[in-house]
Amino acid sequence: MGAQAPGDGVRVGVLALQGDVREHAEALRAVGAVPVPVRRASELASVDGLILPGGESTAIAHLLRVFELMEPLRAAIADGLPVLGTCAGMILLSDTIADPAVVRGREQESIGGLGVTVRRNAFGRQVDSFEQDLELAAWGASLPGPSSVRAVFIRAPRIEEVGEGVSVLATVDGHPVAVAQGHLVATSFHPESAGETALHSWLAAAAGERAAGRVA
Ligand code: GLN
Repeated sequence: MGAQAPGDGVRVGVLALQGDVREHAEALRAVGAVPVPVRRASELASVDGLILPGGESTAIAHLLRVFELMEPLRAAIADGLPVLGTCAGMILLSDTIADPAVVRGREQESIGGLGVTVRRNAFGRQVDSFEQDLELAAWGASLPGPSSVRAVFIRAPRIEEVGEGVSVLATVDGHPVAVAQGHLVATSFHPESAGETALHSWLAAAAGERAAGRVA
């Protein structure tokens, strides 16, 4: 019998309102976790980790209100749910959006939890999308580092300010593009588009620990 990895068989949600849900589900399966599409509060309550995928943060924030998920998500994050936010997901996880979109007179909201200020579409129009190899610093026991990841940036946000307790795992042009704070990890780029699974593996392990703590 093979050794059981901490994240084996653990239920990890992927917020499935808009964005690249399928690639994240595949990456979770590749690391032994069970991906669960999350569209309602009952589904959120059934998982021990969550991915906020890339897509369009204004659309996702609007749908979070429509599906009545904004407050349950804030409560789950405050309760220690491990979350990985990628691209638009990083924007949603950030406490402050430097340039929130204004839709019908209302400023775009974030879920918050991660002590950073983020700027949307910050890598400039001339390079809307690019790919590069990044060295990701180690994070906890389950994200051994430094590890090299292929990072895909698509109209990517950039972190402008990092609060206390936030670790920077990687930078591009001196700007943080991967950060971690306790049970929250966020990247400006899409790890799933290049088939990278190091961050999913961290999330599955963190979710496994939470599941074990709940049962004990
Ligand atoms: N620019 C998008 C936003 O503001 C994010 C793009 C992405 O997730 N690839 O939400």
